Amino acid sequence: MSEIIHRSKTRPVKVGDITIGGSNELFIQSMATTKTHDVEATVAEILRLEEAGCQVVRVACPDERAAYAIGEIKKRINIPLVVDIHFDYKLALIAIEQGADKIRINPGNIGRREKVEAVVNACKAKGIPIRIGVNAGSLERKILEKYGYPTADGMVESALHHIKILEDLDFHDIIVSLKASDVQLAVEAYEKASKAFDYPLHLGITESGTLFSGTVKSAAGLGALLQKGIGNTLRVSLSADPVEEVKVAREMLKVFGLSSNAATLISCPTCGRIEIDLISIANEVEEYISHIKAPLKVAVLGCAVNGPGEAREADIGIAGARGEGLLFMHGKTVRKVPEDTMVEELKIEIDKLAQEYFEK
Ligand code: SF4
Repeated sequence: MSEIIHRSKTRPVKVGDITIGGSNELFIQSMATTKTHDVEATVAEILRLEEAGCQVVRVACPDERAAYAIGEIKKRINIPLVVDIHFDYKLALIAIEQGADKIRINPGNIGRREKVEAVVNACKAKGIPIRIGVNAGSLERKILEKYGYPTADGMVESALHHIKILEDLDFHDIIVSLKASDVQLAVEAYEKASKAFDYPLHLGITESGTLFSGTVKSAAGLGALLQKGIGNTLRVSLSADPVEEVKVAREMLKVFGLSSNAATLISCPTCGRIEIDLISIANEVEEYISHIKAPLKVAVLGCAVNGPGEAREADIGIAGARGEGLLFMHGKTVRKVPEDTMVEELKIEIDKLAQEYFEK
């Protein structure tokens, strides 16, 4: 397990039963794609997201039907529920009363001061935070006029404008996101924001694309920020099943040593020395370890020539040999296994190691 890299310290903010910011842990967030008023479909999707490792989930709240569904959805899920509201303070009040764990609304867009106060007071009474969501595509006209086009400074200025409205009402349970579909703009905005205030940051590259291109784009942008210790929650936005968003986010956290409850696969790219059907084995093992909650490193290698040695840091692995496989642990061969049972034997050994990890 690699060392957790230093994380920028932020103010801790409670969201349901988790605390975002303030510590080293970084939470995976996703968003339901269902119509929120369709409680059955929304709960089913959120439970699938939970199973995949999602730790915070957001739902859209475009109308009263959606707002009144929040209570029932809350009862049937196990992770904090964030309700996304645009402009309409009445929807915010209903969602809060229904038990939302956090609302995403920009106070500067709510309108008259009494309306903002009503939302802030309701959040204070229930002890729930507000996420300010700055988006490069919808910056305030005044800011756009000042900078000419969306810039990182303009995005941070927008965030500070919304933050000030809340701070003036003595409200500090704030989380901020500064999303842009332009990776470099988003990275710069988050970097500047992390220096401008100490509220937790929710990371995301918005409208990043399909499973393939969006994964690459998100990994590039969010990776740059994670490497710098910036970010307290993250969402990988994909035009795909949201379960894929969670899987990509988990993989990203593993890369940066920020996940202590997931196993990692090491597999070779194959070459002319290959002795087994590595690609299908690697996919099967990857699927299997996605359910393992211990930080094990599992290797699958095409041959034994460079195999075990190439994957010395792996806790366990198999390397192909002619008609068989070599099962190895920490770079040392433990035993030979027949090719047709090697994957099953590897799975059994992985389970044993995971068990030992939890008994330690
Ligand atoms: Fe080639 Fe063997 Fe290395 Fe895989 S482990 S890349 S098959 S030498």
